Amino acid sequence: MMLRRGEYHAFSGADARYLYLVPSAGVVELDDVSHAVLETLATGDKTANDLAESLGSRWSGEEIRSSIDELLGVRAIHSVIAPPVTPPPVKSKRSIPLQTLVLNVTSKCNLSCGYCYEYGEDRIVESTTKPRFMDEATARQSVDFMFAESGDSPSVNLTFFGGETLLNFKMLKSSLAYARQKGEELGKQVSASLTTNATLLREEIVDWFIENDVGVTVSIDGAREQQDKFRVFSNGMGSYDIILPRIKDLLARHKRRPVGARVTLTGQNLDVASIYHHLFEEIGFWEVGFAPVTTSWQREYAIEDEGFRSLLSGFQSLADDYLKAALAGKRHGFSNVRDTLEEIHKGMSKSHPCGAGFGLLGVPTDGDVALCYRCAGSDSHKLGSVFIGVDHAAQATFLETHHIDNKTDCSTCWARPLCAGGCYHEAHTRYGTTTQPNLHYCEWIRAWTNTCLEVYGTLAAKRPDFLEHL
Ligand code: SF4
Ligand code: SF4
Repeated sequence: MMLRRGEYHAFSGADARYLYLVPSAGVVELDDVSHAVLETLATGDKTANDLAESLGSRWSGEEIRSSIDELLGVRAIHSVIAPPVTPPPVKSKRSIPLQTLVLNVTSKCNLSCGYCYEYGEDRIVESTTKPRFMDEATARQSVDFMFAESGDSPSVNLTFFGGETLLNFKMLKSSLAYARQKGEELGKQVSASLTTNATLLREEIVDWFIENDVGVTVSIDGAREQQDKFRVFSNGMGSYDIILPRIKDLLARHKRRPVGARVTLTGQNLDVASIYHHLFEEIGFWEVGFAPVTTSWQREYAIEDEGFRSLLSGFQSLADDYLKAALAGKRHGFSNVRDTLEEIHKGMSKSHPCGAGFGLLGVPTDGDVALCYRCAGSDSHKLGSVFIGVDHAAQATFLETHHIDNKTDCSTCWARPLCAGGCYHEAHTRYGTTTQPNLHYCEWIRAWTNTCLEVYGTLAAKRPDFLEHL
């Protein structure tokens, strides 16, 4: 058998060597003989006999053959004549239960953030043709739809999104109560979460979070300086002084679920370290996640060239702090690195960039079924309606046309098991089609993925117990 090195990315931890495998996305530790086999194959295709001959003075034939078998098994090497390994084929939707339903309960917001995709030319939803608020009947029907689509799954996640979600608080209360009652009847657990800009938080709402175990994420851009520059009311007034006491009250009282912060990073707001420090250390959020804007109809907000370098260095510095904290047995709240470590640990090899369109669906105010919360309300990304169910033919076509196998630009990229071409909404905004991979940020994605792999490798060598919690 003629052997060749597989497509992989190798890196070294302090005490161990690791191999990151494409397309399986598995991370394996190399022993000395496996490492030598790979080094030898790096010089060109070889037979098993060639390898035994060149490495025979250091290891027995049995050790070399067993190493070859293991490397073949984890797809680090392959037979020259074997067909290339491809990701698993798309399963039909009927076999993939819905895990998360996102209800866009309103498209209205009481803030006017300049970069928001809801209000600029980035919007792919024509808001004038849709009701601004979801009504009770649509919300109840959406809940029925969620259970019907969840198949045999014992649990479902109901997520509320906006606009500003709390503008429709009355409907949140009634629909979650209905979902919990129905979940009890069906023997399914319902977890609930929402995102809010925190301007409308009040005692009654926090009480409801606590009583109903609602997970809360607050959209916030940093300290007063950043928040008041970007997250403003329509009259231009900053929102920091309005939200700070409300957030402090929320954090002091809502202990049942961790409260996280979600920061929108634009080309004008990239001081990741100071934002993190303020939100985690000074305000006391449980975790902080950053969402970089890489495409915007307003050029000054899109992160480009130098911005990507600054973003990467900020993320790398926080990832370094995360690693140090993990090695010392302390908690660090940088959720971007934690989320990627989790994907690596699960050996993720994505056929699609995210769950949008199958495990996750979005419902805009009128009850149409959409890919996700950001695409909710777009007629060209409609996958049915909560009143008549999922359009399985449209869904199957979507999943097939968006499969990583059809993204030829990504076919040789080692990061594709985790990236798979990136966000559909971004692709649509930038290239006018969701099928196009987001090639404008490949370099950044690969550099960031590499950083996460190094963190993972070091933890695997020094604190494997930490990884078990992921
Ligand atoms: S979009 Fe770029 S980084 Fe992502 S998988 Fe495709 S080629 Fe790789
Ligand atoms: S399409 Fe983009 S915004 Fe929607 S769930 Fe996927 S990654 Fe998130």
